[in-house]
Amino acid sequence: MARFWNFSAGPSMLPYDVLNQISIDVLDWNSTGISVTDINHRSKYFEIIYNQAESDLRALLGLSSDYCILFIQGGGQGANAVVPMNMIGMNGINRADFIISGYWSYKSYLEACKYGDVSIVADNGYTTKIDCNDYGPYTWFPENKSIKTREGSSYLQFCSNETINGVEFVDWGDIANSINKDAVLVVDASSNFLTRVLDIDDTGVVFACAQKNAGISGVTIFIVRKDLIGNALNICPSIFDYMNLFHGHSRYNTPPVFAIYVSGLVFKWLRRNGGVKKMESNNLEKSRMLYDFMDSTSFYINKIHPSVRSRVNIPFHLKNDLLTNIFIEKAENRGLMNIRGHRSVGGLRASIYNAMPIDGVMDLINYMRDFECYYG
Ligand code: PMP
Repeated sequence: MARFWNFSAGPSMLPYDVLNQISIDVLDWNSTGISVTDINHRSKYFEIIYNQAESDLRALLGLSSDYCILFIQGGGQGANAVVPMNMIGMNGINRADFIISGYWSYKSYLEACKYGDVSIVADNGYTTKIDCNDYGPYTWFPENKSIKTREGSSYLQFCSNETINGVEFVDWGDIANSINKDAVLVVDASSNFLTRVLDIDDTGVVFACAQKNAGISGVTIFIVRKDLIGNALNICPSIFDYMNLFHGHSRYNTPPVFAIYVSGLVFKWLRRNGGVKKMESNNLEKSRMLYDFMDSTSFYINKIHPSVRSRVNIPFHLKNDLLTNIFIEKAENRGLMNIRGHRSVGGLRASIYNAMPIDGVMDLINYMRDFECYYG
């Protein structure tokens, strides 16, 4: 059976061991004679799957008892509504603030605007399109050690890794300290969750859709500080109310049983393979190899400020954009799949999440070198 390297931003590669286990469990889960796809969400079997997934994730994150884990449907974009519906009213007035660093944080902002008075307090391209800095819009993180939230604002949201633009920012301690005391940080960590150590203790909520580093599409993982639960707006659908999800162990209605099961297998795989710290060093090494190669030639261009270059989503362009389609076609012939950049920015992108081994990145670099030799 031919297997390719999948550089997709999501759904992305699952570890081979996980795929293998799924193939067994689909026919007969845990020698019960039942397919994992048939397991009822109120059954003792799902109880086992759920509790194990939750405790493995807790262990991976070193999560304190102040936080709970919720598995919610609706994807990353659903989270853009789930968060304001649960949190925008926490201080009595419906107000929240955003930092914009690219496509996804901007999209989150637009969604949140439906629920109240929402404002951008810092951005790297939305309002400062022209004179941002030498790097251009969406290529740096608008970090400001004295970022303030507005009076009455419940939270400040940003994206820790802009999957499309390739901007990654995780040093949010200063921001956590400078915002108003009655506001919390909300982090969309959809694409770098479990790929490096994140400082969850400085946040109110961290969320991540699963289909990049934590399983398959269909479930979004929320890490929620427990004292923030219980503030949902009246209009919040019951199935998205943190309170119902918390008390019902993410089973207010039928949850995505299969997706949660797959997430559980990924968490086990992560624990067997050194945990988040080990993933962090792997991802640092893989991305460094790719950036070092790109920086050694003018044939490939990555415009992101070096201090915030993503370790997991690496967008790049060819100096000669006309060669892009040929690059993609020939890459596929070499088993390097889904290397096309997002439709909003064009160019190319290599997503090298936890499940992408170093060999995959080596194959990509070797291909890029050959392509340059031929067309450069
Ligand atoms: N946030 C980020 C950072 C993402 O990368 C994505 C998906 N690529 C989303 C949100 C949206 O996720 P979904 O497609 O599951 O709605």
